[in-house]
Amino acid sequence: MGATTLQNIADNIAFIETASLRTRLGDALPVAEALVERVRALPGVQQVAYAGSLRRGRDTVGDIDLLVATTHATPIMDAFTTFPEVARVLAHGDTKSSVRLKHGMQVDLRAVPPAVWGAALLYFTGSKEHNVLLRERAQKRHMRLNEYGLFPDDGHTEPPQTRGVKPVAADTEEAIYKALHIAWVPPELREGRTECDAAPPELLQVGDIRRELHCHTTASDGSCSIEQMVLEAKRRGFDCIAITDHSRSSAQANGLSVERLREHIAAVHAVRDRVQGIHVLAGSEVDILADGHLDYPDEVLAELDWVVASPHTALKQSSEAATQRLLAAIANPHVRVMGHPSGRIIGGRPGLEPDWQAVFAAAAKARVALEINANPMRLDLRDQLVHAALAAGCLISINTDAHGLDNFDLLRFGVTTGRRGGLTAEHCVNAWPWKRFEAWRASRG
Ligand SMILES: [Zn+2]
Ligand SMILES: [Zn+2]
Repeated sequence: MGATTLQNIADNIAFIETASLRTRLGDALPVAEALVERVRALPGVQQVAYAGSLRRGRDTVGDIDLLVATTHATPIMDAFTTFPEVARVLAHGDTKSSVRLKHGMQVDLRAVPPAVWGAALLYFTGSKEHNVLLRERAQKRHMRLNEYGLFPDDGHTEPPQTRGVKPVAADTEEAIYKALHIAWVPPELREGRTECDAAPPELLQVGDIRRELHCHTTASDGSCSIEQMVLEAKRRGFDCIAITDHSRSSAQANGLSVERLREHIAAVHAVRDRVQGIHVLAGSEVDILADGHLDYPDEVLAELDWVVASPHTALKQSSEAATQRLLAAIANPHVRVMGHPSGRIIGGRPGLEPDWQAVFAAAAKARVALEINANPMRLDLRDQLVHAALAAGCLISINTDAHGLDNFDLLRFGVTTGRRGGLTAEHCVNAWPWKRFEAWRASRG
């Protein structure tokens, strides 16, 4: 075997090893939320939350860290270790217990006195790198920060909490940040970068999203009709939905021939005319073929209200080929959004690795939005690439890529990923007022 082949194998093994140890956000979060509600119902619980990388919204997490504020920890620990979803108790202590759940995840529960809730939540949310920044800031201000509070630094080597020293702040995160003269940092930004240097931007929230711009119906591989999808979007308070079934090369997804696409456009427009109170766009999720050509000719794309262009195949091509491919799609004047730009599947495949700076520069110039696909299998663009794309001046579009009505619920994972990249409503086309969105939509093609 050649050196390249061996390196590819080594890379793949490394990828699989790191991928398999962690759980996707979309799998871990509902489990954690259910446990939080179960713990909240126990007597003596004053506060309960999940912390760690889950609270920071990372795309994968290791363990679930739960924190509870109480003055009576023992019965809470006893109850926790006998929850029905527990397969094995790994540790059972007075203030900390660890269990393995039946489906495999490890959950740690720590109990702290209510007076130190904020310090503990801050500490166990992390990241380690963010905590280092906070401790450095505390030292500069002649204070000491640990999981029991922010204390005056009196020069003793013994920890202040064991000597009865009164903390400067401990009960809430807000009080601790305030005492350090740092604006409260949303957990998604606590990664030890520049988040303590200036007040963070007002990050995008789920409630800011006004429209879904990428979804599928039974015309390709979705499970609902056009009308069902439109009514669901309307029910959720959206002002617009773009129906974007697959293009002809996606045979496995029942992609539409040009002839079927034309019938489909007419069908979407018929629903548009029938259902009042929501804008309905007849779109397509057009394959970006391996060489950068789009899967329909330009004169067909011109018949659509909306074009999302996405890579689906040839996801192992070289970085050079991937760059040329994505640049060619951006250059097509009908394209408004690049869907799941890398094509990665978390824990499944790494996806394309183009020269992202070149892709972002071109997308910013052409005002083509880059998608954060909210499906927790994808979360593509990923968080750090969102950050880089925003720095390059790109627009972002967050879409659930819904194949059924339940999939609309995936939106929050895309929003979390955007927040981790520093996304605000200003740079997310799904959050713009309708007139601004419509002017941008009509500005190319
Ligand atoms: Zn797709
Ligand atoms: Zn799709």
